[in-house]
Amino acid sequence: MDLGLTNLKVLVTAASRGLGAATARRFSLEGAQVAICSRDQGHIEAAAERIQNETGQQVLPLTADVSDPDDARTIVNRAAEALKGLDILITNAGGPPAGTFEAVSPESWEQSVRLTLLSAVNLIQAALPYLRKSDHAAILTLTSYSAKQPIPGLVLSNSLRAAVIGLTKTLANELGPDGIRVNSIMPGWTLTERVEELMTARAAQKGTTIADEIQAQVAAIPLRRMARPEEFANVAVFLCSPAASYVHGAMIPVDGGAIQAAL
Ligand code: NAD
Repeated sequence: MDLGLTNLKVLVTAASRGLGAATARRFSLEGAQVAICSRDQGHIEAAAERIQNETGQQVLPLTADVSDPDDARTIVNRAAEALKGLDILITNAGGPPAGTFEAVSPESWEQSVRLTLLSAVNLIQAALPYLRKSDHAAILTLTSYSAKQPIPGLVLSNSLRAAVIGLTKTLANELGPDGIRVNSIMPGWTLTERVEELMTARAAQKGTTIADEIQAQVAAIPLRRMARPEEFANVAVFLCSPAASYVHGAMIPVDGGAIQAAL
């Protein structure tokens, strides 16, 4: 199927590795013009080069901390100016720190609100003037299955992902009449670098192997494995593409069947 992405202009934030990088790569493979960002200039340039070498398409690397409102607005403007417009925005950021309610400090709450919720708000606000000029405008927020089913010890993610879902649904109502589609993906366990690091740390702590730790984590997932980042990216790219032109206001789990909440 032709997804209709050739030459569409895309910004994927927090994309030097993991889900963001896999998504940017897939967009580039589909012929889109892609800009990516992360906080570290060397890492984001290396990621852009890796994608370019594989796809033969230029990828624009930008440096920004999306939890900083000025950075978030600036990279949207820089991406849109360089690409001469913007059709698709994927809001991604690093995950908020782990912790139970009583362990998380007020400062950590505030920083995590900036990282997880306000980054999406600021990026989308800055992108709207460009998206309104597009015939294929789409926004995808990257959240987590923790929005549907709280994960023990992750009070920040559990709370703030649900807030981003509320934002996404509200925007679907408010922007739908203008032809701007808004959706979210709630990923489940996906074997990115971050998760590999987490499993490695757990194995070292318990004296087990990484394979043991992954196995323990996936025991309750019907597909009995973690996703590959490409499996997330395939859904993300489809949802943002003109091929999904009537998919709007959808909160799509990509979680191997982990959450089977009521319809
Ligand atoms: P990752 O750590 O592998 O990659 C995160 C990327 O974000 C990196 O490129 C990093 O440089 C960048 N980044 C982090 N903070 C940033 C900031 N403030 N500004 C700009 N760039 C920033 O993580 P991942 O596994 O790809 O996860 C991506 C997001 O998806 C996270 O929010 C994570 O919590 C969420 N998530 C991941 C999973 C999973 O299993 N991998 C599941 C559910 C939700």
